[in-house]
Amino acid sequence: CGIIGYAGEDRALPVLRTGLENLEYRGYDSVGVALRGHEGLRLFKQAGRIKDLSLPEDDDSVVGIGHTRWSTHGEPTDANAHPHTDCTGTVAVVHNGIIENYDSLREELSDHPFTSETDTEVVPHLIEEYLAEGDDLPTAVDRTLERLEGTFALGIVSTEFDGIVAARQDSPLVIGHGERGAFIASDVTAFLEHTREVTYVEDGDVAVLSNGGVEIRNGGEVVERPREHVEWE
Ligand code: GLU
Repeated sequence: CGIIGYAGEDRALPVLRTGLENLEYRGYDSVGVALRGHEGLRLFKQAGRIKDLSLPEDDDSVVGIGHTRWSTHGEPTDANAHPHTDCTGTVAVVHNGIIENYDSLREELSDHPFTSETDTEVVPHLIEEYLAEGDDLPTAVDRTLERLEGTFALGIVSTEFDGIVAARQDSPLVIGHGERGAFIASDVTAFLEHTREVTYVEDGDVAVLSNGGVEIRNGGEVVERPREHVEWE
């Protein structure tokens, strides 16, 4: 139901925690975060409230994503909470929306061990396939999106990429431009204490957040989207 992500110079975890709290008003049944650390991805997720999710005090990752889930496919259990990963633990994905063709994709990916009942989990496994063919993360995400039917806002991190790749189709997604990094969220309230400079992502857009900057592509071409200043409280 809600997404937050940060890639920059500051510690990601406090940004994710506050962002998730700011998104609580949307309603949710489960919560989770993925941090891109020196030793790989660290995942913390469970059914229940944000305040009950035990997160490390000392994590110094500067890239991470967080999620509040409103279940559509699969019960609100710890296993079904986002982020979802691939087999090798190189990719973690948070998703708002519904992947309508998840059934046929799961069949196609039947040699991948699935660990949840969600529609979402096909996404990290598809990305894994394309990474294994030698694609970089943004390209692997582009190819994955071509396979998906339905609605989505996606936030993706990988051990293979220093940043976040995000995408949307019929689900809200906004980018925040901070002094020391960039944010993604399902709405601006998630990161308003950090920045009011935003870009609204459009349908079919893929946003690549890395090296403090943001590049938005659509259909493989780099596109310009307006920056706006958010006035309201
Ligand atoms: N369809 C996904 C699930 O059930 C995402 C739900 C959401 O938007 O929170 O896990």
